[in-house]
Amino acid sequence: MNFHHYYPIDVVNGPGTRCTLFVAGCEHQCRGCYNKSTWRLDSGRPFTPENEDRIIDDLNDSRIPRQGLSLSGGDPLHPHNLPVILHLVKRVRAECEEKDIWLWTGYQLESLNSAQHEVVSYINVLIDGKFVQDLKDPALIWRGSSNQIIHRLR
Ligand code: SF4
Repeated sequence: MNFHHYYPIDVVNGPGTRCTLFVAGCEHQCRGCYNKSTWRLDSGRPFTPENEDRIIDDLNDSRIPRQGLSLSGGDPLHPHNLPVILHLVKRVRAECEEKDIWLWTGYQLESLNSAQHEVVSYINVLIDGKFVQDLKDPALIWRGSSNQIIHRLR
């Protein structure tokens, strides 16, 4: 898996102070996408075990308490990204007590395959659905268009 940006302190993408990872790879091609540079799987740079360790360490850094981890992109549930994302969310569950995980995807919850569902079983909140320009609403929180749904899963 490749990624574009990692923000160790982020107050924009999800509630509270968070760590946020923007991964590479998205096949949805939404008109009006705000992040076209992330579409290609080989864009950005490789996500390494060191990057994963850094996220775990940042989430556990008591000097700057984080509420949790946000995963966006690109699409963290792109089939190519699933093994690495699954490994990451499992580690957050096992090693970062009481941290929540929010994940943004262009896929819809009811259409996910079993491998995508496995990732979702470890997260707290899924914001799903493509960005639809005609349904864009700047007043929405945590989502760009009104077709997207915030699923609070745990
Ligand atoms: S799902 Fe997100 S990143 Fe992918 S094309 Fe749509 S808006 Fe862009």
